[in-house]
Amino acid sequence: MNIDSKQLEKIVKLVANKIEDLETKPIAGSSRLGIFEDMNDAVEAAYVAQKALFELTLSDRKKIIDAIKAHLRSYIEEISMLAFEETGMGRYEHKVIKNTLVIDKTPSVEDLKAGVFTGDDGLTLLEMSPFGVIGAISPSTNPSETVICNAIGMIAAGNSVVFSPHPGAYKTSNRAVELINEAIQFVNGPINLVCTVDHPSLDKANIMMHHPKINLICATGGPAVVKAVLSTGKKAIGAGAGNPPVFVDKTANIENAARDIVLGSSFDNNLPCIAEKEAIVMDEVCDYLIFNMKNNGAYEVKDKELCLLEKLVLCDKGYPKKEFIGKNADYILSKIGIDVDPSIVLIIMEVSKDHPFVQEELMMPILPIVRVKDAKEGIELACQVEHGFRHTAICHSRDIEVLSEMGRRIQTTIFVKNGPSYAGIGVGGEGFTTFTIAGPTGEGLTSASTFTRKRRCVLVNGFNIK
Ligand code: NAD
Repeated sequence: MNIDSKQLEKIVKLVANKIEDLETKPIAGSSRLGIFEDMNDAVEAAYVAQKALFELTLSDRKKIIDAIKAHLRSYIEEISMLAFEETGMGRYEHKVIKNTLVIDKTPSVEDLKAGVFTGDDGLTLLEMSPFGVIGAISPSTNPSETVICNAIGMIAAGNSVVFSPHPGAYKTSNRAVELINEAIQFVNGPINLVCTVDHPSLDKANIMMHHPKINLICATGGPAVVKAVLSTGKKAIGAGAGNPPVFVDKTANIENAARDIVLGSSFDNNLPCIAEKEAIVMDEVCDYLIFNMKNNGAYEVKDKELCLLEKLVLCDKGYPKKEFIGKNADYILSKIGIDVDPSIVLIIMEVSKDHPFVQEELMMPILPIVRVKDAKEGIELACQVEHGFRHTAICHSRDIEVLSEMGRRIQTTIFVKNGPSYAGIGVGGEGFTTFTIAGPTGEGLTSASTFTRKRRCVLVNGFNIK
C-alpha cells in the first residue's frame, strides 16, 4: 500500500488526537465512560460536555448520532440479555426487537425543523435551541431502550444528559451509557455527553433534580416519579403510567383482532406502557373473540382458577405483586397448578369492570375481558378505565364512526386502529419511535424537537422577497 505525505499527516493527526483524548479522559469520580459514583460529578461532567457540543456543527451532531447507532447495533443481543437477566422481567427476544427499534427509528437532527414567517415587516424565524444539561429518569421496564432513545433525541437537539436509572436495572442502563460514550469517542465527540451514576438511589435522583445546572428534567416511569419531577419547580417532561384499553366492536375482523390483541398484550410479557391491559368487547362477538384468542396462544381461566390467580398475583390491597411483573404466562399458571406449554403467552378471563385486573396496571401477561352491549357503552368504559392518563388506546372496528368517536372521546396520546398496540410506536405502524410518551405534560411522543427551547429571531424589514 502506498501512502502519500498528506495521508500520512492525517494518520499522525488522528493518532495524536487519540493520545490526547486518552490523556484527558480520567475525570474525577469516573472509572468507566460517563459513569460516576457521585451525582454532582456526573452533572458537572455533562455541563462541560454540553458546552463543547454547542461549539460543533449540526453535521457533527449527526455524525455523533450515526456513530452511536452504528456502534450499538453490535451490542443489541448483549444489552437485551443483560436487561433480561438483571430485571428478571419480560422476554429476551422482545427486548431484541425493542432495542433494534430505538436504534432504527429514533429521529436525529432532521427532527429539528425551523418555522418561518415572511411579510411586509421582514422575516421571522422560529428556531430551536438546546436546553443545556437534561436530567433523565429511566424505568426498569425499558432500561436500555429509554437511555438510547433519550440520548439520541437530546444530543441531536444539542443537549447533554445525565441519567438517573432505576436501581433494579441500572447495570443495563449504564452499559448503554458506556457504549454510547464509546461511540462518541470514536468520532472525537465531547466526552461525557451522556452521564449516569453507579448505585442509583432516590437521594441521587433528588440531587440531580435539584441541581442548578440541570435545565430540564425528563421522567419516564410511574405516577410517583412524574409527581416528583413536576414538584421541582423546573421545566419537566412527565411520561407516566398507562392502562391501555382495547375495544372490540361487532364490525371488527374478529380473527385479526384476536391475533393482534394476543400479540400486543403478551409483548415483552406486557411490560410496555402501551400494551393492551384490558379488553372491552361487544357481547355478540365476545365468544368468537375468546375462541380465536385461545387459538393464538391465550389460556382462559374461570371460577376457582381465577380465584387462585387473583390470590397469587395481587396483594391484599388489590395492587400487583412485584414478583410476578413481567413473568411468562406459563410460569404464572404453573404457580396455580396449571401446566401448559410455553406456546401459551397470555392468560385471559372474563371479569366485571371493577375488577382490579381491569383497574390496575398489572404489567403481567394477564388480560381481563369485560363484555358490553354496544359501542357507546364500550367507549365510555374504555375512557373510564384509562383513568385519564391520556396514554394509549386501541380499537378494532370497521365502522369509521366508532373509530372516530373513540379517538375523539378518549384523547390518548396514541390511538391504534386495527393493529397490535406496538404499531403505535412504529413496529408494523408508520412513524418514528419513542420510549418516552409524555401524556401528563402533553409533549406526546418525544423526539429531538421536544428537547429544545423554541425561540423567535426577527429580522425587521429584510428578506421579504415575495
Ligand atoms: P417506577 O416509577 O418504579 O420507576 C421509574 C423511575 O423513576 C426509576 O428510575 C425510579 O428510580 C424513579 N423514581 C421513582 N420514584 C421516584 C421519586 N419519588 N423521585 C425520583 N425518582 C423516582 O417505574 P418502573 O417500574 O421502572 O416502570 C414502569 C412504569 O413506568 C409503568 O407505570 C409504566 O407505565 C411507566 N412507563 C411509562 C412510559 C411512557 O413513555 N409514558 C414508558 C415506560 C414506562
